[in-house]
Amino acid sequence: MATNTKREIVIIGGGIIGSCSAYYLTRHPSYDPALHKITLLEASEIAGGASGKAGGLLALWAYPSSIVPLSFKLHAQLAKEHNGKDRWGYREVNCGQLIAKGHAAQDKKEGTGPSVSLQKRDPAAIGKLRAAGIPPDLDWLNADSLRGYESMSGPGETAQVHPYLFTTSITKLAEEKGVNIVLGKATGIDQESDGVKSISYTDKASGESRTIPATDVIVSAGPWTQAVYPPAPISATRAHSVVIRPTRPVSAYTLFTNIELPSPSNPKRSTVTTPEIYARPDDTVYACGDGDHLVPLPETTADVEVDELLCQDIINSVGSISDELKFGDVAKRQACYLPNVAAGGGPLIGHTGIKGLYLASGHTCWGIQNAPGTGKLISEFVFEGSAKSAKIAALDPQRYM
Ligand SMILES: Cc1cc2nc3c(=O)[nH]c(=O)nc-3n(C[C@H](O)[C@H](O)[C@H](O)COP(=O)(O)OP(=O)(O)OC[C@H]3O[C@@H](n4cnc5c(N)ncnc54)[C@H](O)[C@@H]3O)c2cc1C
Repeated sequence: MATNTKREIVIIGGGIIGSCSAYYLTRHPSYDPALHKITLLEASEIAGGASGKAGGLLALWAYPSSIVPLSFKLHAQLAKEHNGKDRWGYREVNCGQLIAKGHAAQDKKEGTGPSVSLQKRDPAAIGKLRAAGIPPDLDWLNADSLRGYESMSGPGETAQVHPYLFTTSITKLAEEKGVNIVLGKATGIDQESDGVKSISYTDKASGESRTIPATDVIVSAGPWTQAVYPPAPISATRAHSVVIRPTRPVSAYTLFTNIELPSPSNPKRSTVTTPEIYARPDDTVYACGDGDHLVPLPETTADVEVDELLCQDIINSVGSISDELKFGDVAKRQACYLPNVAAGGGPLIGHTGIKGLYLASGHTCWGIQNAPGTGKLISEFVFEGSAKSAKIAALDPQRYM
């Protein structure tokens, strides 16, 4: 692969996958800013979609196993090199599975206030926590709600980042090495007989139609990938999440839960919810609920519809097992779309079969974990012609299109 010729590289999509691709292209040994122009084209806002609204869990047991170890290691390296601890909240974290029986949601005024959490420190409550196998420092859950706990992993195998801060910081680091950030929506990938030629886009500020010449194009538009490149088999699932500022700082746990709750319409019946609950180093707690297909993918991240009732369900559910969350302040109610590979599996990383056109999309629920690995592999495809850091034949987009 000739690296000493002029290249015009365009990345479509400023989510975590596009931003990590931009970053690793600028760190590739063959990158020469005098010869290689890199543009990151983002339709609305850097990290405006799932990459800014995800949980941020990183795990060695995530999937696919072909890129997880590489990407988990790169996250640790990025954090070390760029002070990720302070810049994007990188830290190692405990992860566990929790079975609980929640209490019906009460209005704040009816509750006894934050002091309720003191119950956890009385001997009876501590006994209950021990009986359920709860680690002693996981003391922000209501003792009488807990039915069981199983540790899934600890520091060394699980870590976390704040996805919005990570994505925007990595974009900035790429920009500092020469990447040009353009706000505009890609409307076409223009080709000539021997491959890609340019990208057409609508400029966000002026609304004008423009073109960027391109020798290499990386499509990393997350759930919008199919709109940009129709053969890509990428579908979208909406998911809601909330950010709560608890009544006091809570210990570093990420929890997969199974919470039985009395049905609001018939207290004799129960429903089961499965929110994921992640304590964050900025003294907030993130929680997300299940996905839905109630509303089709809108035009841009800015048009995503947030269903307040679905957010409230998450708040009620996590508040039913933790007074720290129940009496905390809700800082964010949000929704975003997850990019899936329609046939299952994924992500899809590599050549499309059209010269100069690459795909990096379909990262499902592990895009934060797998973004640095994806970015590094994309830099190898562009500058070396193939993936070098991991064996990813199973993720070849051409197997799916
Ligand atoms: C609720 C929830 C929780 C999650 N938690 C975790 C977690 O804990 N750990 C983990 O590893 N993963 C998690 N994920 C998954 C992760 O968020 C995604 O896999 C990842 O963010 C996908 O990144 P992306 O860059 O492919 O897509 P996106 O973040 O959607 O970015 C795509 C970008 O492309 C832009 N775009 C679209 N069309 C165009 C166009 N025509 N022109 C220019 N730009 C365009 C969009 O505006 C957007 O900014 C979670 C996801 C959800 C929904």
